[in-house]
Amino acid sequence: MEKNAIEVWENCLKIIKDNIHYQSFKTWFVPIQALKLENSVLTIQVPSQFFYEWLEEHYINLLKKTIRKELGQDGRLEYSIIMDSSFQSNDPYSIKVPTSNKRATKNPAVPMPIDINKNGAKEIPNPFIIPGLKKIKVNSQLVDSYSFDNFVEGDCNRLARSAGFAVSENPGKTSFNPLLIYSDVGLGKTHLAHAIGIQVKTNFPEKTVLYVSTEQFIGQYIDSVRNNNQNDFVHFYQMIDVLIIDDIQFLAGKEKTQDVFFHIFNHLHQNSHQIVITSDKPPIELKGMEPRLLSRFKWGLAADLQAPDFETRIAILQKRLYNDGIEMPQEVLEYLAYSINTNIRELEGALISILAQSSLNKKAITLELAKQMIDKFVKSTSREISIDYIQKVVCDYFNISLDIINSKTRKREIVQARQLAMFFAKKHTKASLATIGLHCGNKDHATVLHACRTVNNLIDTDKQFRIYVEDLDKKIKM
Ligand code: ADP
Ligand code: MG
Repeated sequence: MEKNAIEVWENCLKIIKDNIHYQSFKTWFVPIQALKLENSVLTIQVPSQFFYEWLEEHYINLLKKTIRKELGQDGRLEYSIIMDSSFQSNDPYSIKVPTSNKRATKNPAVPMPIDINKNGAKEIPNPFIIPGLKKIKVNSQLVDSYSFDNFVEGDCNRLARSAGFAVSENPGKTSFNPLLIYSDVGLGKTHLAHAIGIQVKTNFPEKTVLYVSTEQFIGQYIDSVRNNNQNDFVHFYQMIDVLIIDDIQFLAGKEKTQDVFFHIFNHLHQNSHQIVITSDKPPIELKGMEPRLLSRFKWGLAADLQAPDFETRIAILQKRLYNDGIEMPQEVLEYLAYSINTNIRELEGALISILAQSSLNKKAITLELAKQMIDKFVKSTSREISIDYIQKVVCDYFNISLDIINSKTRKREIVQARQLAMFFAKKHTKASLATIGLHCGNKDHATVLHACRTVNNLIDTDKQFRIYVEDLDKKIKM
C-alpha cells in the first residue's frame, strides 16, 4: 500500500521546518498543497511559476533529501503550477522534476496559449517560461497579409522598407538595432513591422519572433505585478530573438513599465537580438519617456514613413484590388488616389466603401458613384490638398502631362501651368516656398515667389487668365 500524499508531505514539512527559518517556511512551504502520490512521485501544487523557480533555486537540496527520506531512492517530486486564470485551460501545468537530477531536465517547448476575446482581438495571457529552457515557442502574433510582398514601395517609404528588409535578412547583426519606424497614423508602420517579422520567420524558421503592441506589453506587465511574477515576464521577453513592439509612444508616463522595458531592451541588445520599434513621432519628440530609454532608441536607425505620392497611392490601391481579384475603372482609382492623400488606411477605407456600395446596390463602379462616396468620406475626414494633387488638376486642365510640367522646358504654356501649380500650392497647402519649388520641377523658393507674384498680376490684368484661375480653384477644392 502506497502512502497518502498529504501524510508524506506533512512528514516532509516537519523536516523542512526544522531546517529553515520560520519566516521562510511560512512564505514558501505553507502555501504548497500535496496533490497526489503515484509510483513514488509526489506531486505538489505551487501558486506560481515564480514560486517554483524560487523553490528550485533555494531549496532543491533540502527537498531532494526529505523526499528520499520519505519515499526512498526512487522518490521524485513533481510540481504543479497554478497558471494565470486567463489561460484557456484551468489545469495546472505540471513539470517533472526528478529529485535525483540537479535541475529540471529538458522540458517541451511551452506554447503561449492565445485566446480570442469578445472583440475578436488576440490576447496573449501573461507570458511565462520554464527555467532551464533554451528555446520557447511563442505565438508570434504576425498577420500574414502584412507581408513585404503586399507592402508597396515608394519614395515615401524607401529607407524604412530597405532597412526593414536588411534587418530581416540579418536580424540583430546589422547596425539597425533597434530599428525604429515612425510616422503619422495610417502610413504603414504596423504593416512594415509585421513584414519584418514574417520575413525573419521565412529566413530563419528557428528564430523566436514576437509582435506585441505596447498596450499589450503594458497589460502583461501589470498582470505580472499583480501575480507577483515579474521575473517570468522579464525572462520571457529576454528569450525573444526578434522583438517587435508597436506604438511605443504609449509608454509615455509609464515609468515602471519603461524601467522593465529598459532592462529587457539591454538584455536583448547585448545578446544581439533584434528590436524593432514603431512610434508616432521621431525619438527626440517622444514626450514622457526616460532619457536613458530615448538614448537607447538612437543607437540604431530611426526611419520615417511619409505620406505616399500619387503614383504610390495608385499602386497600393491596385495591389489591393489585384489581391482581392476585383477590377475597377482606372479613372475611379485615380479619383480615389487624388482625393485621399494623407492616410493609407483612409484610402483603403474609401475603396472598401465603394466596393460595398456597388455590390449592395448592384450598381457598376463608376466615377459618379465614386464621387458621391468620396465626397461623403472626405468631408468627414477633412481632406488636405497636396501639391501632387494640385499639379495633377492643373495638368488635366491644360491637357499636359505631369512630366512636362516638371521638366526644364520654357515654353510659355508650360511655364504658365507650372506657375499656376505653384500659386495654388502656396494658397492651399501649408508647404513652404522651398518645398513647393522642390515638388514643382526642382525650383528654388525665389522662383516660387516670383510665380505667385506673376499669377497675381495676371489675375488683375488678364480676363481670360482670371477665368482659368477661378475654374482651377473650383476644381482643386472639389
Ligand atoms: P500605421 O501603423 O502607421 O497606423 P498601418 O500599418 O496600420 O499604419 O497601415 C494602414 C493600412 O495601410 C494597412 O491596411 C496597411 O496594409 C496599408 N499600407 C500602409 N502602407 C502600405 C504600403 N506601402 N503598401 C501597401 N499597403 C500599405
Ligand atoms: Mg499601427
